[in-house]
Amino acid sequence: MSVRTRFAPSPTGRLHLGHALSARVACEFARKHNGQFLLRHEDIDTSRVRPEFYLSIEHDLHWLGLDWNEPPLRQTDRIAAYDTALESLKAVGLVYPCFCTRREIRDEISRMSAAPHGPEGPLYPGTCRQLSTAERRTRIDRGDPHAWRLDSRKAARLTGSLTFHDLLLGRHSVDPGLLGDVVLARKDIGTAYHLAVVVDDAFQQITHVTRGRDLLVSTHVHRILQQLLRLPEPTYLHHPLVLDDTGKRLAKRHDALAIATLRDAGKPPAEVLALTDDVFAASLAF
Ligand code: GLU
Repeated sequence: MSVRTRFAPSPTGRLHLGHALSARVACEFARKHNGQFLLRHEDIDTSRVRPEFYLSIEHDLHWLGLDWNEPPLRQTDRIAAYDTALESLKAVGLVYPCFCTRREIRDEISRMSAAPHGPEGPLYPGTCRQLSTAERRTRIDRGDPHAWRLDSRKAARLTGSLTFHDLLLGRHSVDPGLLGDVVLARKDIGTAYHLAVVVDDAFQQITHVTRGRDLLVSTHVHRILQQLLRLPEPTYLHHPLVLDDTGKRLAKRHDALAIATLRDAGKPPAEVLALTDDVFAASLAF
């Protein structure tokens, strides 16, 4: 099977050096293996997407000399596929409706003496997992806004133990409790990152998922979803991150390190890419 990689930015801002590194890793990995490099716009969060960023992302990548092999995929064109995946999880009772507001979740957590915690803070305390079928029905029928959450315990019982392989970090055991009962369909948009990304990695036949190490925790959820939805298991490469001077991960606030800012300051593409050289070398050091 030939290698297929992808770069999956969200058109909610301009690309910065961290994105350039991610795209470079995915593109170079595919090139090295005579494979294909794909671009996917992860644009389901329509409240944050701005139309001009689709083009600016594509323009920045081309300017850096990173070109993709197929027309870019837009997740907003794929909503039906995410709905189908969610329905199949509903049919086997692996997701449950969650009516909680953010505030209710916060209050519930502060009331608990030992609220579950994950690597990124407190986890959903499972309030709506306890609701009866009848109560869920009533609340859905009367139109109460609700998200859908993965029942991570039930899912773990069904999948048994799972692992994933990372080219840099080796084999990992999946910890189903790491992120708890994550949202698979948001109240406002009817789907969510974790669900859409596994459905699309399979749809685009991605063999190697290369992305930043900040997403390593998400991979635990993704392996579970791949197993539940009977999707193929890709190989992973969670690369080190480009950090700012204070050791923090780059974000949209780092405007000085946006590709467009560097270009406007007169830096040629090779010089911009060179700023990622150290981390790039470490990313493919296996
Ligand atoms: N859209 C995600 C981001 O911009 C990347 C998701 C992924 O690579 O799996 O952080």
